[in-house]
Amino acid sequence: VERTLSIIKPDATKRNLTGKINAKFEEAGLRIVAQKRIKLTKAQAGEFYAVHKERPFFDELTDFMASGPVVVQVLEGDSAISKNREVMGATNPADAAPGTIRAEFAESVGENSVHGSDAPETAKEEISFFFAGLELV
Ligand code: ATP
Ligand code: MG
Repeated sequence: VERTLSIIKPDATKRNLTGKINAKFEEAGLRIVAQKRIKLTKAQAGEFYAVHKERPFFDELTDFMASGPVVVQVLEGDSAISKNREVMGATNPADAAPGTIRAEFAESVGENSVHGSDAPETAKEEISFFFAGLELV
């Protein structure tokens, strides 16, 4: 089994979609093993998305991620990282496969409802960014 870090983004918490998104994860065989609702500052959002610092959308992205509560969660399952990204769908909802979270719920390429780690090393870093060892069983 593998673990990955997922974030339900402000556009989705605002529209009360946490349960519907979690159902998609569970239907795909992913287990939610840790979860909490928090509100990031713009600085914290920038630290989390530091890899995108030089991208033209960085300011917009960090403003958005700090604009409301997010639900950060650890998902567990076989090939959890790739499975989660499959369930999420493409970054741009216009390109996302039918039935994926972004196809069903995302509003735009920026406000795209969910984040998921993209590799084992980033999953490890991102999980420890939000969760202490004692919160993970
Ligand atoms: P995430 O990292 O959030 O799981 P991703 O891996 O599909 O998404 P990335 O390329 O890592 O996509 O981009 C990170 C986030 O930055 C996207 O999810 C989206 O919210 C935002 N973003 C990406 N491209 C754009 C863009 N062209 N305009 C505005 N925001 C963008
Ligand atoms: Mg990414």
